[in-house]
Amino acid sequence: MLDTRPRRTFAVISHPDAGKSTITEALALHARAINEAGAVHGKGDRKATVSDWMAMEKARGISITSAALQFEYRDHVINLVDTPGHSDFSEDTYRVLSAVDSAVMLVDAGKGLEPQTLKLFRVCALRGIPVITVINKWDRPGLSPLELMDMIERQIKLRPTPLTWPVGEAGDFRGVLDRRTGDFIKYTRTAGGATIAPEKRMASDEVEENDLLVWHNAVEEHELLELDEADHDQERFLAGETTPVMFASALQNFGVAQLLDLLLELAPAPGPTEGVDGTVRQPEDEFSAFVFKVQSGMNNAHRDRLAYARIVSGEFERGMVVTHASTGRPFATKFAQTVFGRETTSVEQAYPGDIIGLVNANALRVGDTIFTGPKIEYAGVPSFAPEHFRTVSAGDIGRFKQFRKGIEQLDQEGVVQVLRSDLRGDQNPVLAAVGPLQFEVVEDRMLNEFNSPIRFSRLDYQVARLTDAAGAEALKGMRGCEVLQRSDGTHVVLFTDNWRANATARDNPSITLEALPAGG
Ligand code: GDP
Repeated sequence: MLDTRPRRTFAVISHPDAGKSTITEALALHARAINEAGAVHGKGDRKATVSDWMAMEKARGISITSAALQFEYRDHVINLVDTPGHSDFSEDTYRVLSAVDSAVMLVDAGKGLEPQTLKLFRVCALRGIPVITVINKWDRPGLSPLELMDMIERQIKLRPTPLTWPVGEAGDFRGVLDRRTGDFIKYTRTAGGATIAPEKRMASDEVEENDLLVWHNAVEEHELLELDEADHDQERFLAGETTPVMFASALQNFGVAQLLDLLLELAPAPGPTEGVDGTVRQPEDEFSAFVFKVQSGMNNAHRDRLAYARIVSGEFERGMVVTHASTGRPFATKFAQTVFGRETTSVEQAYPGDIIGLVNANALRVGDTIFTGPKIEYAGVPSFAPEHFRTVSAGDIGRFKQFRKGIEQLDQEGVVQVLRSDLRGDQNPVLAAVGPLQFEVVEDRMLNEFNSPIRFSRLDYQVARLTDAAGAEALKGMRGCEVLQRSDGTHVVLFTDNWRANATARDNPSITLEALPAGG
């Protein structure tokens, strides 16, 4: 049966501790109108159980892959794509954002914009992903709302257009002023936030006596914002020039229904997507999807590889045979599944905006396109400028086979970029990372998954540029740089510093030297 319900596919971006797990659970709670969240989160360690999507899947009948959470709200299907937390922060996080149509930026009212939020936001800007901002934890003392707006405008160069405005300062949260209707949405505290907080809506002349003083302050500030033309404009939002802002307390479930309504109202539905050759697929065209995340070791016994793909167009049906764009080979999707932990559920059908997990996907790499019908290939996922370089070699030469296999696997998963040259051979490739944490992941996985201890040596490079075959040839042997190749064939030139990279470009105008966007 064709599921034509509209989709919204988004990610929550935030610095650790801003409340991502809390709001994720609150969103699912609202979406399924279940009265007691306590069934999912125990009293003790809320955090551990909150992020346990498996439990949510069972309790609420929502469908989850370990990459995305799917639920229904007002006859829409919502896909919330997970962005990894701080500990495994790497290029992976950036790639995940290629699978969404919009992002919700969660800001801690007390802390303002934090480093990881800024980084993730930059990726959204680069990819033109519209961002809705939620100022969270308004039930606690925090910064003033105008100060927060100023931070957003100055630090991320987005014009904030608040849709609601807090009534009562942070820590004295009475509710919000709905700037589009002029209504007061009153916040009622519920014990522990276990149930959906009633959001009582009333006209401005119904505001009660004891709220009047703070209400008038809010109205005054709202009028200031109006004069400053800080009102929502859908076109500018979609163009990535403005960000609608709302105020919430995820822990108390306040603002969560407003956020869901906003996602339905403002966030873009899956749209047409352009391939590298300029042809465009509309969502209703034949099936196509691209892989944005590859994961292995979910099942240690089989060491099967799972490829997560975002559907761009058409209807996916389990068992269909698709074409793998980069090799032209057929790929059977017999085992399309949602997988969490050890349990698997088959996906029978999926639609544009949905995320599917393809099992036994050993041929698929991050960025790959699969399709039916006429050929289409998407640009896939962005690549960011690596700024950290090390050579890697087997710590135990008796395990060289494991070493080679492990490095190849981690390369295909995109855990780190592996750069090779004839000179270095297979024994001594260069690993290039956007963040140094990626090296720790490599070390850990090589040892524990592939049984191969490794040795790193530092390299005196700081800058990478891309070149073509002619450039690679011309630069070979030149001082202060080294020419290597990624497994996708791209030629990468490493320089000791920016000065030398720029000087080389200046002295050799005929050589292509392309910089990648900064990710760090
Ligand atoms: P994550 O690291 O972004 O997933 O953050 P969590 O959802 O785990 O939240 C971090 C901490 O902030 C937890 O102790 C939450 O209970 C708390 N928290 C989250 N949202 C709110 C909120 O709206 N108000 C208050 N007071 N605390 C919150």
